Amino acid sequence: MARRRNNVVALAILVVIFASCARYASAVGGTPHSDFSYKVGDPDGPDKWATLQKDWAICGSGKKQSPIDVAKVEVSKDLGPLEPTYKARAAVVQNRGHDFMLNWTARNGDLSIEGKKYTLLQVHWHAPSEHTVNGTHLDAEMHMVHEESATKSKAVVAVLFSTKAGTPSKLLGDLKPYFERLSGKTNDTEEVKGTVDPSTWIDKASGYYRYEGSLTTPPCTEGVLWTIMSKVEDASKEEVDSIDRVKKSSTQPNARPTQKINSRIIRYYKAGATEAPASAPAPAPAPAPGPT
Ligand SMILES: [Zn+2]
Repeated sequence: MARRRNNVVALAILVVIFASCARYASAVGGTPHSDFSYKVGDPDGPDKWATLQKDWAICGSGKKQSPIDVAKVEVSKDLGPLEPTYKARAAVVQNRGHDFMLNWTARNGDLSIEGKKYTLLQVHWHAPSEHTVNGTHLDAEMHMVHEESATKSKAVVAVLFSTKAGTPSKLLGDLKPYFERLSGKTNDTEEVKGTVDPSTWIDKASGYYRYEGSLTTPPCTEGVLWTIMSKVEDASKEEVDSIDRVKKSSTQPNARPTQKINSRIIRYYKAGATEAPASAPAPAPAPAPGPT
């Protein structure tokens, strides 16, 4: 009898541990990534996400889904500059099956957006970019996922990367060895040597786009406040390749296709700006007229 009681107590303790793990996983945006794929047309591809699990229905029926194409924007002077108070803290890189995620092991600072204070929870990477600018993908996109502690509402800051100039990125270069070592090792983690300081990851001189959207992975929960930095950062092709090698050694894109904007408005803010940025990717030069 006593043994039986002990077993019951042990079971209860296990249940509590599992429940708190699950809560932590959801706090950092964690649906196990083995449950879906990114390939349109696959039985578990993005066009089928809504049908895979009951609480993923909004992936298909939602009217405020992410990512979107950033095309028409409205200049808004009221938004104001981004002023994060990020700090250097110990962190861990994890292979989540479809992306690499960096998690800090201690509270590492906040970002105030529209009067609400959001804590930076985790950062992960997509390649190519999920958001497009005037219909064009950039080479990679970093998502800095924040959460307001009282309401659990999310705010994501997105930084876009281009390999056009070929200039390496300090941020991605520092993490590339971790991505390479964790390549193909789903759920494996590695502690980052020293600390990771995200305080320079948002360029305060850059403008940004703001709109209301969703998580870009199932369950595609809406009510996520998006901030997309308009200044595209440089990266090397090798760095972007390392983001894409989550599975085995072959590169594998992990970007959800863009979703309908519906009635949403994209606002743009930059200190002193009265016009929307010339964000259109430069058109290909017109062919030189041939001899007449
Ligand atoms: Zn993301």
